[in-house]
Amino acid sequence: MKKTPIRKVSKKQAKRQREWTKRVLRLAEAQDWICARCKKYYGFVGEWGLQGHHTIYRSAMGEDTDENCEVICWKCSAKEHGQNVKEVSR
Ligand SMILES: [Zn+2]
Repeated sequence: MKKTPIRKVSKKQAKRQREWTKRVLRLAEAQDWICARCKKYYGFVGEWGLQGHHTIYRSAMGEDTDENCEVICWKCSAKEHGQNVKEVSR
């Protein structure tokens, strides 16, 4: 049996994650659950819906603030990160 490595998340990281999720939900509601880029209505936050996006990447010292949070859909998010967007049939 292979052991699945558990990625340890510090308390601080977990708290930041929670705060970020709350912020994304709040901002998504404020913009009527519409993607800030393509203006498509999604109605929910999740893997195949709207996602919080750091305007300035965290790796570039971007902060967890409303100003630095853009709520866009997963497709626009994938484009932003240079991934190939494949149509998913579900
Ligand atoms: Zn979009």
